[in-house]
Amino acid sequence: MIYLDSAATSLLKPQCVGEAMAAAMGRCASPGRGSHESARLAAEVCWDCRCAAAELFHVASEEQVVFTMNATHAINLAIHSLVGPGDRVVISGWEHNAVVRPLHARGAVIDVAAAPLFDREGTLEAFARRLSGARAAVCTHVSNVFGFILPIYDIARLCKAAGVPLIVDAAQSAGVLPLDFQRLDCAFAAMPGHKGLMGPQGTGLLLCHGETKPLLFGGSGSLSRERDMPAFLPDRLEAGTQNVPGIAGLLEGIRYVQSTGVEQIERCERSQLRLFAAELGDSVGQLMLSPDPSLQSGVLSLLPRDIDCEEAAELLGQGGVAVRAGLHCAPLAHESAGTLRSGTVRFSFSPRLRRDDVLLGAKYTKEILGK
Ligand code: PLP
Repeated sequence: MIYLDSAATSLLKPQCVGEAMAAAMGRCASPGRGSHESARLAAEVCWDCRCAAAELFHVASEEQVVFTMNATHAINLAIHSLVGPGDRVVISGWEHNAVVRPLHARGAVIDVAAAPLFDREGTLEAFARRLSGARAAVCTHVSNVFGFILPIYDIARLCKAAGVPLIVDAAQSAGVLPLDFQRLDCAFAAMPGHKGLMGPQGTGLLLCHGETKPLLFGGSGSLSRERDMPAFLPDRLEAGTQNVPGIAGLLEGIRYVQSTGVEQIERCERSQLRLFAAELGDSVGQLMLSPDPSLQSGVLSLLPRDIDCEEAAELLGQGGVAVRAGLHCAPLAHESAGTLRSGTVRFSFSPRLRRDDVLLGAKYTKEILGK
């Protein structure tokens, strides 16, 4: 199988990730819940992972790195911390349901800063027009459907000037593009551990800067006499026993990203996308490519010719090419791009793919959809 679905989850993990998980299963007990060797080892794994994440994302202190079970959990925590019923929240036109649904559930007034696909200036103008008086802003760093890299540092600057706290959804950029939390100077950045960071499913991170409100209440291994959750991070947001095997795997994933280099990963995914697109040309339909390659990460949508998207993905899957089709949990992004009715077929790339895999993926796609 040629796996071109890394935007969903990075299946092609470095081997050390699984090995670290298996080792943690055998050796690590509950972190912060005992002074014996195996509890200490578990605490060490969690601390090392916090340190590695803090270093990779330039977070001032390790305590600001909170473990979550995925990006959705992290985004829910951030929204719960900042947004109440009736609050107006500005979001980009490329947000995932992991943003839209929690805001809707919270009773927020969702104000979409709509702009055309791959239009950085238009996006900035749309945010600038809406920020005054907003309670918060949420913006994805990279669209999970089209790979559009949003001008997140400029948006953060606009938010800062308007006094509006910003939540960055880094689900598609963590481990794939450089991300500097201190330079962003935003309230939160949420990310999965299981995509670009190469960790296992069931892991995620929330980088915090400012007021936080717990979503879950329970044991934290600290201040046990108190009825309230501790006021300090990360304990405030980490109720219950941690996913230590997952965190052990995530630590190895982050180390892989660090040793490979995020800039190298970014270059690699971008060149795979361009190679794949060049091989395909317009043979099977319309590729949604940015005219400026620097505005697109390793995620590419296709509007196939003469065939429904879901059917195309089904045929590709049967032919050995793993892709995702439909709305990709992001109907707003499709509405923004005018593809809500059809959906798209999405191809996504990975530093774990070889050039030959990319070429073979393009060849099979042409053969299967070009008939
Ligand atoms: N945000 C974006 C942009 C995504 O692409 C995804 C997952 O595809 C999520 C949020 C949710 O991530 P998770 O499945 O880890 O909760």
